[in-house]
Amino acid sequence: MSEWNEAPKTVIEMAKRIIANDHPELMTASIAFVMKSEGEDDQGRSRFKIKPHQTWAKAAKIPAKYDALMDFQFLIWIQEEIWDRLDYHQQEALIDHEMCHCGFNDNDAPSMIPHDFEEFSCVIERHGLWRKSLLEMGKAAQQYIQDDLKFDQTKNEISTSAAPGRVASLTGGQLKAMTNQTAL
Ligand SMILES: [Zn+2]
Repeated sequence: MSEWNEAPKTVIEMAKRIIANDHPELMTASIAFVMKSEGEDDQGRSRFKIKPHQTWAKAAKIPAKYDALMDFQFLIWIQEEIWDRLDYHQQEALIDHEMCHCGFNDNDAPSMIPHDFEEFSCVIERHGLWRKSLLEMGKAAQQYIQDDLKFDQTKNEISTSAAPGRVASLTGGQLKAMTNQTAL
């Protein structure tokens, strides 16, 4: 069974910086982070076995049944064993990705945003960027490659005067309560 652990400070600090730099829409959001782990067996070996299509992280709205337990709008969980294998830029990209799933609808209620493109590599090989969402993806990739040649990837200072949204790890008690409920 999976275990839920508090998110380390590095995750929280990185999340705040990403909101400040790239997610102004989440400045007022409250986001809880938590690490998911498969734990260790009796011999102290990790029980984690990587699966095809392994989920690296997931963002969700906090269901109403947790209202009494925690005052957050979104929960982002990260698979700890994956996190530990990623380099710094991959970790940033993963958090940025999950934050892209978090938004607010016209009524200002938290809402989940789906991916803006989805495709198989083999279809792109055979048919190219055959729909608008893929063309956009292609443009973004091209832009990134051009920029990457021009600049070093240094975008790490907080660039804002406003304080980033409320980002925190779930605490021990909240984690325990969550474990006792059905998994999100
Ligand atoms: Zn996603």
